[in-house]
Amino acid sequence: DAVLRPRRIQALDPDVVNKIAAGEIIVAPVHALKELMENAVDAGSTSLEIVVKEGGLKLLQITDNGCGIDKGDLPILCERFTTSKLQKMEDLQSIATYGFRGEALASISHIAHLTVTTKTRDSNCAWRAIYGSGKLVPAKPGQLPDPKPMAGRQGTQIMVEDLFYNVPTRRRAFRSASDEYNKIIDMVGRYAIHCSRVAFSCKKYGESSTSIAVQSSASSIDRVRQIYGGSVASELLEFSTSDDRWHFKANGLTTNANYSVKKTTLLLFINHRCVESSNIRRAVEQTYSPFLPKGGHPFVYLSLEIDPQRVDVNVHPTKREVNFLNEDEITQVICEHLRSKLAAVDTSRAFLTQA
Ligand code: ADP
Ligand code: MG
Repeated sequence: DAVLRPRRIQALDPDVVNKIAAGEIIVAPVHALKELMENAVDAGSTSLEIVVKEGGLKLLQITDNGCGIDKGDLPILCERFTTSKLQKMEDLQSIATYGFRGEALASISHIAHLTVTTKTRDSNCAWRAIYGSGKLVPAKPGQLPDPKPMAGRQGTQIMVEDLFYNVPTRRRAFRSASDEYNKIIDMVGRYAIHCSRVAFSCKKYGESSTSIAVQSSASSIDRVRQIYGGSVASELLEFSTSDDRWHFKANGLTTNANYSVKKTTLLLFINHRCVESSNIRRAVEQTYSPFLPKGGHPFVYLSLEIDPQRVDVNVHPTKREVNFLNEDEITQVICEHLRSKLAAVDTSRAFLTQA
């Protein structure tokens, strides 16, 4: 009976495999931009300029003033698992971040047109390289794929064009460019608050006005004021705490009991990567609930540095929720600290009203 005969198993074409893998890591333009911002910051940049066209689907361009990329590294830059940040398994234990696995640029090159222009301090010119499916490709048919010399300043410019051009189902899933742009603005804002000595700008292509513009000298509170507004910035408490038992340090900015909105804003960074944690969010909300009117929520920026050996670094890059050792204990210490800060301000206010 023909119906019962199994179909033969075949290997997928590697190109298809790469495209599927890339589409899992990069689901929306904001995911590509997050990786590019992290790379720019890792390269020691003090200025990041971002330009976006059609919510990032047509163009994502990020220009930094970091260390640049050696010309000799350009041929393998977009191969999967090429990185300057990790050499052996043991390094996984000592690097203090998520996401160092050499997959971002490779992934992007499989689902977009990628152009890299870069200059190191020691090079007397910049080099431009164009990538497709992990490899250098010629700028025009018939030309050599080699990097081309150009004039340019130190640093790197990454241009991602026509994201998902070869993944039509994914491309069609995007309904609104402005939704995608809002996600981008949100993510740039988060990094602009966290990377406190770095200048950030972000705007739509062809427009002169910027959606975000912070100078490198701006203080953290100024950054919150510029990005989230004065009503948040004027009610912030600075905090910092650490604990040797659980090997962590935490610091940040959190609103006092005068500030209350419908939804919690939590900017959470663990070892300098923006992540999500529903456990921490829930604990923070519980901490605030006795201090705020019913249904009120805070704004919290929390930067947590944990001994890298205690972070699950081998987490899949698609996973934006994180876990770490002694998560409950660490969360408790932080929330206890926030509670004492809030209580201190609350008592002084009660005292003032009485007086
Ligand atoms: P990873 O960041 O995990 O190493 P990526 O694919 O994001 O992997 O980047 C690969 C490598 O390319 C990095 O390790 C770094 O050496 C180099 N690189 C990427 N972006 C930049 C940049 N903006 N400036 C300098 N080097 C960069
Ligand atoms: Mg990276």
